[in-house]
Amino acid sequence: MRVTVRVEPRHADNTACGHAVKPSGKPRDPGSACPGRTQFAVVCSEHGDVDQPHHVRVLAEPAATEHRQQHRAAPATR
Ligand SMILES: [Zn+2]
Ligand SMILES: [Zn+2]
Repeated sequence: MRVTVRVEPRHADNTACGHAVKPSGKPRDPGSACPGRTQFAVVCSEHGDVDQPHHVRVLAEPAATEHRQQHRAAPATR
């Protein structure tokens, strides 16, 4: 099975944010239910959340890359 690792934007309460937001993290639509995007979680298809969410995407991206490399080094069950 192929493992996928992605960075998922989250709200402060740790729910996924699929809203359109400005680069600042504020919702693009002022009337949106989005409370604001405050963190980025690394989510693995096999392990779920990897470590703690990161506050900025530039820190989450390398963590996701590192986790992918760990899978490459030690392949999941065949
Ligand atoms: Zn949102
Ligand atoms: Zn994993």
